[in-house]
Amino acid sequence: MSANKYQAQIDAFMSTVAAKNGHENEFLQAVEEVMESVIPFVEENPKYQGKGLLERMVEPERAIQFRIPWLDDAGNVQVNRGFRVQFNSAIGPYKGGMRFHPSVNLSILKFLGFEQVFKNSLTTLPMGGGKGGSDFNPKGKSDNEVMRFCQSLMTELSKHIGADTDVPAGDIGVGGREIGFMFGQYKRLRNEFTGILTGKGLEFGGSLIRPEATGYGAVYFMNEMLIKAGKSFEGQVVAVSGSGNVAQYAIEKLTQLGGKAVTASDSSGCIYDPAGIDAEKLAFIMELKNVKRGRIKEYADKYGVQFFEGKRPWDVVESADIAMPCATQNELDADNAANLIKAGIIGVAEGANMPSTPEAVHAFESNKVMFAPGKASNAGGVATSGLEMSQNSLRLAWTSEEVDTKLHNIMKAIHSSCVKYGEQADGSIDYVKGANIAGFVKVADAMLAQGIV
Ligand code: NAP
Repeated sequence: MSANKYQAQIDAFMSTVAAKNGHENEFLQAVEEVMESVIPFVEENPKYQGKGLLERMVEPERAIQFRIPWLDDAGNVQVNRGFRVQFNSAIGPYKGGMRFHPSVNLSILKFLGFEQVFKNSLTTLPMGGGKGGSDFNPKGKSDNEVMRFCQSLMTELSKHIGADTDVPAGDIGVGGREIGFMFGQYKRLRNEFTGILTGKGLEFGGSLIRPEATGYGAVYFMNEMLIKAGKSFEGQVVAVSGSGNVAQYAIEKLTQLGGKAVTASDSSGCIYDPAGIDAEKLAFIMELKNVKRGRIKEYADKYGVQFFEGKRPWDVVESADIAMPCATQNELDADNAANLIKAGIIGVAEGANMPSTPEAVHAFESNKVMFAPGKASNAGGVATSGLEMSQNSLRLAWTSEEVDTKLHNIMKAIHSSCVKYGEQADGSIDYVKGANIAGFVKVADAMLAQGIV
């Protein structure tokens, strides 16, 4: 990466953010990545100066933390911590997922909420940014325990959300089951049937294609990058991480487009299947993960391929054209990037949020590997949540084809915005810069119009 002409301004800004949020490493990482693109843009566009725009953008409008007491099956009292970070509502109601994972803390939710502001802006839909969750671990809990936990969480969260205020959705550890339990409790408390959550079941206001949307959208985005480079998905070997919602539907769509996924993982390790994860093997993963809630190792046992305990796909893959990290933040570091470059990678599209460390991103960029940051390539999930909100307001349900076509068009539009702001003198596209600036402009213009609030 070329040295940034405005590095002194970036460093000065980051030192003020670090002074206030010193212990929040993930948040600082996300802010710095955005500021590397946005501060030079602001320096060159005076209309964005002098109004404290960037200082306001890095401060959540509101962050709520609350106690979640619940009874486990043995009758013991358990206490978890709940959060909702309402980051920015300049262009619409706060929107972003809820994450249930033991690692959840304010730093992680602030990083995710901050990213969400730019991502939601890119989708072309009127949605502000927010994120929430809990340090609750759904693994090993019974359905009744998950239900009691979700009900307790919603008893407090219901005071802070609403169809025109804040509309949460799923994320790691929060799928259809959890959304259903939270929706039921909200409806019972408020005696109203409104679209206060997305990712709902089809019977109660959910949208077709919402479960598929993040994975499909990431593949549609990668496809646009390939087309721009004069290539296609046909015959491409793809290393995928994760085996949850995003990974499953990324594998499904890339296979439909002629690609071949050769890896999948969970927090215990990864499998490497050089013959490819075809439709039948993917159905096995979906049953394993969504119904039986088992471990990815069982795939290796069933299909006689290698399981690598404690490893990630990037540690083991020997030959691949594309990488799609779809598990969690900071799961792909500089060593992993070097291994992928050695394996022959030409493109990376992030399905997860911030899965690549800054060093990995720099390695991809300096080796001319096409790189799409999550805020652009995984925006299909929230975009389709936005479409679910529209259907709820209209009291209509669109067909799969209608939603999928809208999703596909949104991903193409996001790609075009990235090209508009990220095209370099040599014709290559800096997708990080493009996504950050395109996301910034809409939010910044709305904030300028609304005064100092
Ligand atoms: P999910 O269904 O819960 O799946 C998460 C997957 O990642 C699982 O395979 C999980 O393994 C693995 N994982 C989680 N934490 C890990 C860790 N610390 N180390 C290694 N593996 C880990 O969640 P998801 O919805 O697919 O979300 C995956 C990523 O996509 C997240 O970064 C999320 O923020 C992002 N994202 C999701 C959406 C959406 O619509 N769902 C939209 C945009 C972005 P285990 O089963 O072992 O936990």
